[in-house]
Amino acid sequence: MLKYLETSREVVLEEESLRDGLQNEPRILSLDEKLELVHLLATAGIRRVQVGSFVNPRTVPQMADTDALVGLVRAALPHLLCTALVLNRQGLDRAIGCGLDHISLSLSVSDSHSRKNVRRSAMEALEAIVVLVGVAVAHGITVRAGVQSAFGCADEGCVPEDRVLEAVRRLAAAGAVEINLADTAGKAHPDQVRQLVARVRRLEPAVRLSLHLHDTRGLGLANLMAGYEAGVRLFDVAAGGLGGCPFVQGAAGNVATEEAVHLFQGLGVDTGIDLGQLHKIVERYQEVLGRPLPEKKHRM
Ligand SMILES: [Zn+2]
Repeated sequence: MLKYLETSREVVLEEESLRDGLQNEPRILSLDEKLELVHLLATAGIRRVQVGSFVNPRTVPQMADTDALVGLVRAALPHLLCTALVLNRQGLDRAIGCGLDHISLSLSVSDSHSRKNVRRSAMEALEAIVVLVGVAVAHGITVRAGVQSAFGCADEGCVPEDRVLEAVRRLAAAGAVEINLADTAGKAHPDQVRQLVARVRRLEPAVRLSLHLHDTRGLGLANLMAGYEAGVRLFDVAAGGLGGCPFVQGAAGNVATEEAVHLFQGLGVDTGIDLGQLHKIVERYQEVLGRPLPEKKHRM
């Protein structure tokens, strides 16, 4: 818990490249390659890494070795906050089986996105996730609850803010210590980020709030800045701007870790992350994936 609530840095960046970044890649990385990347991320000063997801290995074979990776990372890097994504009871049982003490449980507030993701409506998914938050907390697991499509959906367009707030209220009441608002389809606008963040903070002032932003329309960093100005101090990022949802057509990657670090450096905000080391990680990703990545800073 202490590790989770570490506040020595002004801004904490959670690295998503191993999960959001790799879940859609045609090349499946080996366990050794993933472990090497986690070591490199830790060396660069990253303190929180979502290393994978406990999803069906037949549907997402890229994440099939999450159980093994969690074990290796926790043994090798005990000071790193190692976390993974859970979407259902089977996944939660796997997380408990690995002894993982922090997970991200997540649902979508868009009906069509939710049906593609977990074959349930948004409200059905919320009910199921609320139960799982309670089960995880009862096992001593710290839960971050993710609200996907919080800023709109590629299929449905707008998602009512009140639906997002209802999900936040229920998840916090169930025991989630952090709420992660995800712009899964990359539809958010800075004004919308400011407004939703303010409403969530008013509703649940004791719950930590983090943002998961995709750069689909080139507004990733602008949205991150809007979140920062609205008081958010936790952001999801992915080295090289990797990422994208397999169920969202045309979804672009996450805000690139190196671009976020560069932005915060310019603002004089400490992230504890070394840009030079990050560029080595982007290069390593390009080697193992065999393609250039979209981020810009490493080419300067
Ligand atoms: Zn994402």
